[in-house]
Amino acid sequence: MMQQFLQMKEQAGDAILLFRCGDFYETFMDDAVITSRVCDITLTKRGISKGEPIPLAGVPYHAVQNYIYKLTRAGYRVAICEQMERPGKGKKVLKRELIRTITPGTIIDSDVVDGSENNYLAAIFDGGMNGWGLAYVDITTGEFRATAENSNRAWEMMLSELSKLAPSELLADRRLVEDKNFITPLRQHTSACVTPLHFQEFDPEQIQKLKLRIDTSDCTRLPTQDRRLCTSAAGAIVTYLADNQKETIAQLTQLSIYQRKSFLLIDRSTERNLELLSSQGEGGRRYTLLGAIDRTVTPMGARKIKHWMLRPLLDVPAIQARLDFVESLTAYPNERGDLRESLKSMSDIERIVGRTLFGNANARDLAALRSSLEQIEPVNRILGVESLNSSARAVLESEKILARTDEEAEPLLRDVPQIGGILDEVMELRELLAVAVVESPPLTVREGGMIREGYNEELDELRSIRKDGRGFIAALEESERKASGISSLKVAYNKVFGYYIEVTKTNIDKVPDRYICKQTLTNAERFITPELKEYEAKVLHAEDRIRDLEYELHQKLLEVVAGYAPRLKASAAQIAAIDVLQGFAECASRNNYNRPSIDDEDRIAIYEGRHPVLERSDAVDLFVPNDIELDPESRIIIITGPNMAGKSTYIRQVALIVLMAQMGCFVPAREANIGVVDRVFSRVGASDDLSRGRSTFMVEMCEAANILQESTPRSLVILDEIGRGTSTFDGVSLAWAMVEYLHQVKRKGVKTLFATHYHELAELENQLSRVKNYHVRVAEEGDTIRFLYRIEPGFSDHSYGIHVADLAGVPRKVTSRAREVLVDLEKSMARGQQQDGPDIQMSLFSLVDEPLRQKLAEVDMEQLSPRDAWDFLADLVKEAKG
Ligand code: ADP
Ligand code: MG
Repeated sequence: MMQQFLQMKEQAGDAILLFRCGDFYETFMDDAVITSRVCDITLTKRGISKGEPIPLAGVPYHAVQNYIYKLTRAGYRVAICEQMERPGKGKKVLKRELIRTITPGTIIDSDVVDGSENNYLAAIFDGGMNGWGLAYVDITTGEFRATAENSNRAWEMMLSELSKLAPSELLADRRLVEDKNFITPLRQHTSACVTPLHFQEFDPEQIQKLKLRIDTSDCTRLPTQDRRLCTSAAGAIVTYLADNQKETIAQLTQLSIYQRKSFLLIDRSTERNLELLSSQGEGGRRYTLLGAIDRTVTPMGARKIKHWMLRPLLDVPAIQARLDFVESLTAYPNERGDLRESLKSMSDIERIVGRTLFGNANARDLAALRSSLEQIEPVNRILGVESLNSSARAVLESEKILARTDEEAEPLLRDVPQIGGILDEVMELRELLAVAVVESPPLTVREGGMIREGYNEELDELRSIRKDGRGFIAALEESERKASGISSLKVAYNKVFGYYIEVTKTNIDKVPDRYICKQTLTNAERFITPELKEYEAKVLHAEDRIRDLEYELHQKLLEVVAGYAPRLKASAAQIAAIDVLQGFAECASRNNYNRPSIDDEDRIAIYEGRHPVLERSDAVDLFVPNDIELDPESRIIIITGPNMAGKSTYIRQVALIVLMAQMGCFVPAREANIGVVDRVFSRVGASDDLSRGRSTFMVEMCEAANILQESTPRSLVILDEIGRGTSTFDGVSLAWAMVEYLHQVKRKGVKTLFATHYHELAELENQLSRVKNYHVRVAEEGDTIRFLYRIEPGFSDHSYGIHVADLAGVPRKVTSRAREVLVDLEKSMARGQQQDGPDIQMSLFSLVDEPLRQKLAEVDMEQLSPRDAWDFLADLVKEAKG
């Protein structure tokens, strides 16, 4: 067996080999050492190889998925070697084969892959001068997409796309992987396990060469160069799957092309700053936009809402269609409740179809699929409600519009049935599953018990033989008791002897001669009779045959289901969209959101807007709503105010409301008029990013550079305390220059909200026509202040830093001393202004230099000998050096 293992190991290459032995998968040698460490299981030793005991670690077969998951998460590849025959008598080494290799991007087991998450395998292709190609696949759902990028910032765009995608495995050319200029920035954008491939595997013709039945017609819309970029990356994916997990390729039916620019662009730092999917502080998901608006009840919806959140729409009719749907659902709370109930009892159709295509679905999956399909009818009925009907159809139609304008050809609703139902119930399949599969089938597919009575004639016959056989044996017990006069006589069954008759020692003398003794126990003896054995053969044979036949029938059902895969996937995609939208409606009614009005105007106007996450937080008693108006005349708004006044909250809420509106969600505002925005950027000054090894200020500037290069007059830019990571002079100057630049973009200026504590920036309002000052009001009450969280025109010339320190509980001694210093500072500032103009920051330095300056002022040059001058200078220098 060890020899067989070594052979397999050779084939498996650098993967950890899980070697099936009965009820265990064993790992040997180095693999065992790694497995025991990663999976935290005992390492044992067995046998001898080259004079050394062989390390061994085994995992039970029924729990293997968990171990595979742990190993792949730790970045290892895992090869599975199966026994290809049942253990029988006399055979020494069983036939074994490597059946597949599992990598982080190719896990398919439902128990370990989180239902609400996609698991992506991506491939990136460097087309040199032509740009970059990116393709990705989720083999659990069959989603397979590609995009090309050839702008002058293609590489940055790729990185940003990868960070949004968060693949668990990335395929890249070996030469790239060895290149620091590639791998270092890549590492900052993705934690994917990077798998190097030979460049030849990025073959644009691969799908054709492998004769795969994948519809690539979507690619033909692209210019040749871009098409090659896409198909090269996609080629690497299919090659990789073909080499490692052939079965999964059946999942891929269509390669869709998408373009980043058909969605509102959100890059990674913006996503993090706005805390869309994950929160920076504690509290996890609860304090994210997702946590605030995700009321989905199916795994399909849970994945879809994340997808939508990072890709809000630009197309006004498509957004309107979603909003229409949400609006009707808010108007019909009872129907919405029913809809939620129906959706709740749906299983993850996408992944069931995935497992079916892969061939490892069990009868429970089939039963779950059946009951999910049964729920489509009520869903259709609810969506058929008169006024819901038109909006529902519109939203589903809009997915079609989407498919066109966004070149995002989801296989959605190719044909919407006009009357009655909207979703495809796949009636034939539903009916088949209803007659074929029992109500609650077992997990295993080898033990029978899956197929319903009346579905297959042979099966019914075998079952009645089995039943009769059992009845016969029961009757036999009775008749043998009578015949022998032994009332305690039993007919029983065990694996070694099959059926036998057991008689206690006390009755042994009554046993008839025709009984053949098989075994003697302390208190009893066991016998068989020819008659018993004959029936046994029948029953056992029937049982074996039932198992095999049920397995065959089950496999056939899987094939049938696989044939319906495209229709099932289309229904699943619609269900996902409906789920997200009913969640939006739910959220709108619960949280008092309103429908935004969406158009193409160059304007954002929000009245009584709130922060969707903060308004629900326990930390806030009463959230104060605020307005905003951004239009061609007021492009850039500079918000000043003390710390803790609510600046950051205010500017973020504007960005969040815009994103929500363009996703098709109602918004936390009395009224919102949103002219569609093409990109949202959010930057926070002095946000540390030590984990990625870049200095704070560097990060800030990289991000700023990105905004300046990427933003258009249609964009919305949120800048929070930019310039704080460096000296005050640098900071103000940079912030100043950035505002000037943003003000000039395409002569229109970029819609910008700038929160800052640099009061100097308020001066910009006087110099640039489209800049407006706002401040957050605070109420001064004697020595303390009260935050009002109200945004008003004009700037605040007071930072109330010491007041805030007071509120925070900094000792009185410190704050009152700070007040003294402040008075001094303000005095010397006044002096500074007379002499050097309005540069208030100088005052800081003057205060420190004051004693030296004093001394210098007192010197009478006429009276100073060279010797005294030397001494005086030496003193000054000493003092200055402290
Ligand atoms: P700043 O950026 O001006 O320092 P933040 O926006 O971080 O202030 O807000 C500080 C705190 O003030 C928030 O954590 C929240 O508790 C409270 N706050 C902010 N805005 C509001 C508001 N509109 N209504 C009620 N409380 C608010
Ligand atoms: Mg702030």
